[in-house]
Amino acid sequence: MAWMCSGRTNKELIQKMLDANLVKSERVGAAMKATDRAAYVRYKEDAYVDSPQSIGYAATISAPHMHAHAAEYLLPYLFPGAKVLDVGSGSGYTAAIFHRLVSSEGKKGLVVGIEHIPELTEWSVANLKADGLGKALEDGEIVMWAGDGRKGDLERGPFNAIHVGAASPHLPQELVDQLAKPGRMFIPVGTNEQAVIQVDKDEDGKVTQKELFGVRYVPLTDRAKQWTH
Ligand code: SAH
Repeated sequence: MAWMCSGRTNKELIQKMLDANLVKSERVGAAMKATDRAAYVRYKEDAYVDSPQSIGYAATISAPHMHAHAAEYLLPYLFPGAKVLDVGSGSGYTAAIFHRLVSSEGKKGLVVGIEHIPELTEWSVANLKADGLGKALEDGEIVMWAGDGRKGDLERGPFNAIHVGAASPHLPQELVDQLAKPGRMFIPVGTNEQAVIQVDKDEDGKVTQKELFGVRYVPLTDRAKQWTH
């Protein structure tokens, strides 16, 4: 089995990941240290292990190193005051990290999380509150809502950064349309074989795509296909 990072505390886990170069950026490291993963998982005893975990409803919270990669690829667009869309926001963990990056240096950013399982959306709000982000929710700096994330959020866009936490069979055009000029999207694409695609939109609206690395994510799909009560 591959060697896996773990810590007795959240800070220790993230520091070990920084030391092992699994987290490369100090800015992302600081946001992850401030975001207690135990607030976002079901099995608290395994919160500080660099491994994915089931969150119910056929959904998974990714391993922290995956979240670090996502934030690092999006980092040039996660500046103070930026607007971020988190599609398939699940536990709320990525929304918290993005919030700590964009609502910083005295600027207020916006993070919109869309999750199609209403029970998970509710749970994510409770998790964010447990992680000390109740005020950010009250102030509208973090907005979590239940719905189909493939359609994005026309009202609140365009977004400087879009993170998709589930694998889409193809690149959803509505999300590309909601990227700001400039903007960047991190999206796993594919069914059996999946790869993360980085989609960049430049100042003139020109869109380019780059394949980053292979992954295995939960599918971005219809709610009824994922979970039936
Ligand atoms: N970043 C989250 C990822 C959760 S897994 C975390 O680490 O906690 C992916 C999530 O995408 C699941 O919670 C799943 O319910 C959600 N999802 C799948 N298809 C969706 C869709 N069409 N719209 C919104 N959410 C979707």
